[in-house]
Amino acid sequence: MRIYVSVDMEGLAGIAHPHQVVFAPGGPDRTDYDRSRGLMAAEANAAVEAALAHGAREVVVNDSHWQMRNLRAEDLHDEARLVIGDKPLSMTQGVGEAPDGAFDGAAFIGYHAGAGHPTGVIAHTYSSVTVLEIRVNGVAHNEAGLNAIRLGYHGVPVILVAGDDALAGEVAALLPWAERVVVKRGLGTNVADSLSPAAARAAIREGMERALARIGEMRLYEPNPPLGGQIDFRTPAMADYACVLPGTDRLGPRTVGFRADDGDALYRTCLALTRLATIPAA
Ligand SMILES: [Zn+2]
Repeated sequence: MRIYVSVDMEGLAGIAHPHQVVFAPGGPDRTDYDRSRGLMAAEANAAVEAALAHGAREVVVNDSHWQMRNLRAEDLHDEARLVIGDKPLSMTQGVGEAPDGAFDGAAFIGYHAGAGHPTGVIAHTYSSVTVLEIRVNGVAHNEAGLNAIRLGYHGVPVILVAGDDALAGEVAALLPWAERVVVKRGLGTNVADSLSPAAARAAIREGMERALARIGEMRLYEPNPPLGGQIDFRTPAMADYACVLPGTDRLGPRTVGFRADDGDALYRTCLALTRLATIPAA
């Protein structure tokens, strides 16, 4: 059994403020960000340990936060593999790619609620700068949901999602079969009531054990085709740039729509549109 672990940072225990998850030259002191890199490795390792202890032969970890170069390789579990570098396929890099893109299940660790959630910690959907909401077949999708669509196309069920309680509520609606681990209560965008890192790691280990015990019940997330995607951007200028991509429809001043034949195309189109939309924001 091979397990894929995609690790973000905003949904880790002990993290609530943007200064803890990004670092810019000339910005705030990077001490908090560097500490978060350790917390990220620790929660990833909890998932890896439990997967290896309960039947996984190989675990592949994808650093899925920001520029995706947060995890220090030497911090990761000795038996885990790490997807490193600059990632065109972002939070799902490594899935569906030869020679080793097939997995029996995926865990999302350190994930967060979608853009606009009233209490989700650092809630956003792919781009906090450009995206107000992403919908698939009329339903708002957070990052866990969008990533699950691409993984579903490639035959990989999402079996475990860890983050705050806001995320857990969204996952219960989108991916009800997945085990949910709540490591903090969101009290607002930049404030949380969190478990200790040690308690969060224990909860993740237990969640992975429960998920693997139920692996036969896990389902692929495959919304009915043809898939209709819609993205609300923050400004009309962002929508102008997104609409450069052929096949898009301008549905409103800030809203771009498109059709996709399958989950892989839907995910790739969402990535392309959100990346195009960052051009006028730069
Ligand atoms: Zn992130």
